[in-house]
Amino acid sequence: MAAATAGADDALNADLLLHNARIWTGDPDLPAATSIGIQNGRIVFVGNEIDSNAFVGPATIQIDAQGKRIIPGLIDSHAHLQGAANSLAILNLREARSREDLLSIIRRAAAEQPQDAWLIGRGWSAESWPDQTPPTADELDVASGNRPVLLTRMDGHSLVASRTALDLAGITTGTPQDPPGGKIERTAEGLPTGAIFEQAMSLVRRHKPTRTDDQLRSLLLRAQQHAHSVGITQVGAIESPEFLKSVIIPMDQQGLLTLRVQATISQNTDTLDEWHPSLLWASSNPNPSPNVSVIGFKGYMDGSLGSRTAWMHQPYIDNPVEQDNAGFPQVMAESGLLADLILQGAQMGLQPAVHAIGTRANEQLLDWYEQIPQDQRRAIRPRIEHAQHLLPEDVPRFAALGVIPSMQPYHKADDGRYADQRIGAARNRTSYAFRDLLDSGAALSFGSDWPVVSVNPFLGIAAAVNALTLDGETFLPEQSITIEEALTAYTRTAAWCLLNESETGMLRVGYLADMLILDRDILSVPPQQLADVRVLETYVGGKRVYPNN
Ligand SMILES: [Zn+2]
Repeated sequence: MAAATAGADDALNADLLLHNARIWTGDPDLPAATSIGIQNGRIVFVGNEIDSNAFVGPATIQIDAQGKRIIPGLIDSHAHLQGAANSLAILNLREARSREDLLSIIRRAAAEQPQDAWLIGRGWSAESWPDQTPPTADELDVASGNRPVLLTRMDGHSLVASRTALDLAGITTGTPQDPPGGKIERTAEGLPTGAIFEQAMSLVRRHKPTRTDDQLRSLLLRAQQHAHSVGITQVGAIESPEFLKSVIIPMDQQGLLTLRVQATISQNTDTLDEWHPSLLWASSNPNPSPNVSVIGFKGYMDGSLGSRTAWMHQPYIDNPVEQDNAGFPQVMAESGLLADLILQGAQMGLQPAVHAIGTRANEQLLDWYEQIPQDQRRAIRPRIEHAQHLLPEDVPRFAALGVIPSMQPYHKADDGRYADQRIGAARNRTSYAFRDLLDSGAALSFGSDWPVVSVNPFLGIAAAVNALTLDGETFLPEQSITIEEALTAYTRTAAWCLLNESETGMLRVGYLADMLILDRDILSVPPQQLADVRVLETYVGGKRVYPNN
């Protein structure tokens, strides 16, 4: 791309010029501007009104932005598109306020759906309920009229199943044993209660009906439109190779994908032999279609705080049944094979994006990342997904090693409701450590974990800035960051995290023209309004994708 100097040259005329705007470019070299010009999907001009005239030709469409705030398209560095598509077709349980409330949702769904339909739901969390107890298998059977019911907890690390579903999966008194990395909760008599954790979830899930690719494509189109409506133009998508090959890439080849996808492959296998073909496919298909790149793979160190499966140095303090439970490592973390996978992937140029929530999981993973040869580590930029609970001495290791904390600020608002109850305030001082990580020089990158929580980035920005839990309590305000820092984590450093920083994440000449027009000035609204910021228009590559008419 030529430098934007010779304005008289017709070749530099913009197709589209937005002026009279308040632009936050995200570019440290030119943070503010009033006018932006676009040609063939890329930015050809950023600057003031007078200089922009040189880029206006007879065919230039000019839009008066009427003083509105324009920012780069927001980048969600951690989302699950297949999960998001699926979530549109299942019961949303986030609003359930008690066990009785949840059971009434199930009764209503049972009344509406055919007798043989599975009732699948997601999003409950019992922590704010009066009695804090999820429904049992037998209660779910009564509410559903003996249907198979699978209700995944908000964090995706545990579920409750109806007795009918357990029976279909052959989970009864005494059998089967807990699989590696999983747990089937049982009464003292050995009867399964309905609560299933981590790897054991697949024992029931594999019996549920699957969706066709056509169904998934139309659901994904709806999911994509929703993401654009809240300002997301690019995602770090964590997907199975099958979903990429059969849904995302074909949709992109047909011109239906307007979201930019930086994919990380994920699969539910625990041996290097099973992983190898996928690593090979990923490393030999870095750019399978125009809007899709395959950049790395997803691994798991541990579980979650909510399910008390995050791997900690010390036990949870609110777990009367198992007082010594400090969470546990996932299968490949426990066997150490994950370390080999990381080294093998690094050699193939693949970025590891590994889930680590507990302090012990994070410490161990940083140790493993430290073993990657430095030149490879610089090239692949290892990520820790969530990086939620850290030992104070581990905070500076992110910047020192070039490891990216890929965090989801809305989890702070969510988990903050019970984090002190789980592990105590003292151990939480370097939890959700946005401030400390930034101050130590780490490339803090934000995302949502959609569909675990809403994809709306303004909820995340509000959580990172305001330190309020969903219950409205202040939690860890010393880790709060500024609005501009939160925007940077959703733009420039998110692009860095997704190895795409020379194309997206800033409004700069030569960059892809992904941008938003907002309904109010996010940089000067009162902090309590941050969650209410709305997107008026979303552009990807200079084309308006929201509203899409
Ligand atoms: Zn996730």
